[in-house]
Amino acid sequence: MITVLKGNATDQQRDNLIRWFESQGLRVHISKGEFQTVLGLVGDTSRIDEDLVAALDIVERVTRVTEKYKAANRKFHPEDTVISIGDVKIGGGNFAMIAGPCSVESEEQILGIAKSVRESGATLLRGGAFKPRTSPYDFQGMRAEGLELLLEAKQATGMPIVTEIMNAEHLPLFENVDVIQIGARNMQNFELLKAVGKTDKVILLKRGLANTLKELLMSAEYIMAEGNEKVILCERGIRTFETYTRNTLDLSAIPALRENTHLPIVIDPSHATGKASLVEPMALAAVAAGADGLMIEVHNDPQNALCDGAQSLTPEQFEKVAQKVRKIRDVVAS
Ligand code: PEP
Ligand code: MN
Repeated sequence: MITVLKGNATDQQRDNLIRWFESQGLRVHISKGEFQTVLGLVGDTSRIDEDLVAALDIVERVTRVTEKYKAANRKFHPEDTVISIGDVKIGGGNFAMIAGPCSVESEEQILGIAKSVRESGATLLRGGAFKPRTSPYDFQGMRAEGLELLLEAKQATGMPIVTEIMNAEHLPLFENVDVIQIGARNMQNFELLKAVGKTDKVILLKRGLANTLKELLMSAEYIMAEGNEKVILCERGIRTFETYTRNTLDLSAIPALRENTHLPIVIDPSHATGKASLVEPMALAAVAAGADGLMIEVHNDPQNALCDGAQSLTPEQFEKVAQKVRKIRDVVAS
């Protein structure tokens, strides 16, 4: 249930109402926008007489929220959420360009790629240290050592870093990581979602290979219900009958999520297509469709990459994509 307050409600009147809701066993999520304050009620609201609440002087209207996701729901928080990662902002008209290799492979590799993507306009550096691979015989990532190298690249370039966690026990290693990624395969690892929900890190939550948008929002809700509201959603393609591409990029996820949630939305055209030649057109289409950011895999030597070389752009190709993205952004913003 949401209670929208009238513009003239005083802070004290608002606080009294919040205290009363809390005394009824509810949690109150406050969204203070430019024009209105929305009180989102989480818990069993069936005992609340909505006519009584609607009749209060300070209340403009009361609406029942039927969706199971509450904190992630746009009805609870009508304005776009803007998340700050160091000096970088994402959401509400702020665009983030995340770039870097699929996996950290060496000091030279990550430092070199970090510097070149930063020069091309990337604002966040990605790189996998713990890798979810389909085969146990494939490269599993440099693990803790990979995280150290990412931190070194962060120091050298000033770029905040994004990297995937696969096990809550590894959280202490992620202390200096700026954005923790929950990969597609772990989108419904609910214990992991709860664990990162207890941290104050920004979380990049990827859509599962075969998950609906509602399920994605419910997974965001798991994180937010623990108190961490800094969630970025990422569409990275879903599994369909098509085999030409690695996955099928669901671009309609952007406007569809936009209608239903206030959280920032990022598109990953690299994992969505699996082919470097398809990354640019899909990146541009995503920006045109209103994405708040892109996540693109870049490798200095794609042919010899230890993971996802086929979908990785060279730094030169990335530079061209970044330039075109800026042009499309100008068109969309005008
Ligand atoms: C990745 O970002 O390298 C990755 C493994 O992505 P996904 O979880 O989307 O497959
Ligand atoms: Mn990858």
